[in-house]
Amino acid sequence: GVVRDGLWVQGLTTRYGPVTALDDVDLTAPGGRITAVLGANGAGKTTLLRTVSGLLRPQAGRIGLGGTDLTGVNAEDVARAGVAHVPEGRGVITELTVEENLRLGALLGSVRSSVRTPPTIADVYTLFPSLRRRKSQAAHSLSGGERQMLVIGRALLSAPEVLLLDEPSLGLAPQIVSRIFAVLRELVDTEGLAVLLVEQNARSALSIADTGVVLNLGRVVACSDAAELAADDELRHAYLGF
Ligand code: ATP
Repeated sequence: GVVRDGLWVQGLTTRYGPVTALDDVDLTAPGGRITAVLGANGAGKTTLLRTVSGLLRPQAGRIGLGGTDLTGVNAEDVARAGVAHVPEGRGVITELTVEENLRLGALLGSVRSSVRTPPTIADVYTLFPSLRRRKSQAAHSLSGGERQMLVIGRALLSAPEVLLLDEPSLGLAPQIVSRIFAVLRELVDTEGLAVLLVEQNARSALSIADTGVVLNLGRVVACSDAAELAADDELRHAYLGF
């Protein structure tokens, strides 16, 4: 068959009972690129990430990473294959310290170390210096921005090929969002990581993404160069809210 780089989905359809949340979705998130998935509330963005990461089982379609078919693979094995999912809502373990949270990520990284060299915890502190200053503090004492840095750092320690990010900017100050996006951009450019970035804030997502995919009621209504989408007045007004 066709050689496909990075993450790809084809004909993906996911239903909740009678509700079709994803309807015949095709998309790719290649390595070295940030692919933004945009759309209003209820468009199907979170469902897309949960289906790709194996938390939901699609009714139809296929999911793959390069030449590896991940359709129907359980969440733990999808993570082992190199797809790291950072869910909305900052899933840190609040009772553990910052460093203990990072060590959990490093555990999966050691499992994957034959495939890809994981970064060290010190590397993560270099990317996000405020985490180093708080390494012995319980995660519940962190600000929203620091929690987001912690979950992204933990995901990076698993040595992923693909990073799935659900609304990382939610509730964060613009300078913090810029800082986090700048780190992601650097990792994508230097490490060839593939990022699939779900955002309701389409304007800021398109400012760092290479490609944008617009979902509406579970269907792809546009897929194009990010700058082109941002310049399309009709599309912006109809689906992107800016
Ligand atoms: P949001 O930004 O609000 O999370 P979204 O684009 O991520 O929006 P989804 O959360 O994927 O959208 O929801 C897509 C559709 O599926 C919506 O119609 C939603 O009501 C429905 N849906 C989501 N989760 C469930 C569920 N657990 N049970 C039933 N319907 C659901």
